[in-house]
Amino acid sequence: MTGPALIEGLAGIVGPRHVRTAPAERLTYARDGLPTHSRLPGVVVLPGTRDEVVAVLRLLAAHRVPFVPRGAGTGLSGGALANGDAVLIVLTRCSRIFKIDPKNRVAVVEPGVVNARLSAAAAPHGLHYAPDPSSQTACTIGGNVAENAGGPHCLKYGVTATHILALEVVLADGRVLELGSPGGEPWGPDLVGLFVGSEGNFGVATRITVRLLPQPRAVRTLLADFGSLRTAGEAVSAVIASGILPAALEMMDQSCIRAVEDSVYAAGYPRRRRDGRGHPPRPRRGLRPYRRRCGGARAPVARPQEGVRGNGPSVARPRGAGRRRSPVRPTRRARDDRADRRRVPPHREQRVPRR
Ligand SMILES: Cc1cc2nc3c(=O)[nH]c(=O)nc-3n(C[C@H](O)[C@H](O)[C@H](O)COP(=O)(O)OP(=O)(O)OC[C@H]3O[C@@H](n4cnc5c(N)ncnc54)[C@H](O)[C@@H]3O)c2cc1C
Repeated sequence: MTGPALIEGLAGIVGPRHVRTAPAERLTYARDGLPTHSRLPGVVVLPGTRDEVVAVLRLLAAHRVPFVPRGAGTGLSGGALANGDAVLIVLTRCSRIFKIDPKNRVAVVEPGVVNARLSAAAAPHGLHYAPDPSSQTACTIGGNVAENAGGPHCLKYGVTATHILALEVVLADGRVLELGSPGGEPWGPDLVGLFVGSEGNFGVATRITVRLLPQPRAVRTLLADFGSLRTAGEAVSAVIASGILPAALEMMDQSCIRAVEDSVYAAGYPRRRRDGRGHPPRPRRGLRPYRRRCGGARAPVARPQEGVRGNGPSVARPRGAGRRRSPVRPTRRARDDRADRRRVPPHREQRVPRR
């Protein structure tokens, strides 16, 4: 299906450099963020513009070859994997920010723009793009649209669907559609809402108009230490029920805290001592409403850092970061992916049929 005629046609559209057919090249795209699944795509093509996407899709439709769009490949559902009889359309080269309009608080971008890059570009205007999946330094806005991605700040600001105003999409036969309206709600059914979260099944998003929000004037980060998940969970409900809507709420157990504190990202979180008493954070003034709602906390609420603007990573990357070994050992399942067969324990080898 993905024969020489098709490969030649694709190379004619995007240039031979941007058509990957060698097994080693295709292997790079055989996985996404879901470590348990792997598929070797038949061909990988990397268009650089909307017109190239249109021409590629028309060619594939003419050859009746299926395709899968792909952004950065961080998805956790295997949605960016393509079978050997399909073409993988990688959109990372379509990474232009066409417009940031501070007056109307909108930005128009190509699908391959990395999430964190958009907020960085909007920051000089006092604006940011609110949906912040934890993968935001790698994942693309196109992938966020297809997955309706969320993130810690979506508690307050809502998931991707809330922030997409309009889309230009290319359908499987190469037709181009405009969905939504940059100015607000269009007449008729909510086709943007239908496309957002459709995991690439309805077509390829080639131009995305997003809503930008003003950066918060101040950020207060609070930390409360709880003795059990139940009391921590009850505090979350109590905080929200009281009408206070935090921009984000995260729960960390001791193994997470240990992993962070033993790494280059150490942020001063309280470690639990072996006697179970821990190191409570120092109490500060001015946080009474939160303190009341965190009634189950073993230690008073404190504010470890404040005055941080924006929603980017709050811990700077020190020199030498990345060279230090992670304190977290890989899970058994992740390790299985690169298992050396000679070292597989006997009880697992029994599952392999003997010849
Ligand atoms: C460490 C880590 C943390 C994560 N944290 C979060 C999180 O906090 N919240 C969250 O929601 N997700 C999270 N994710 C999942 C993932 O990052 C998001 O789903 C993200 O939106 C995927 O973007 P991507 O560019 O990598 O898309 P890909 O993985 O490349 O693709 C995802 C899907 O989008 C489709 N697609 C990609 N581009 C387009 C396009 N232009 N048009 C149409 N369809 C397209 C693909 O076909 C596929 O179905 C995390 C993943 C990792 C690895």
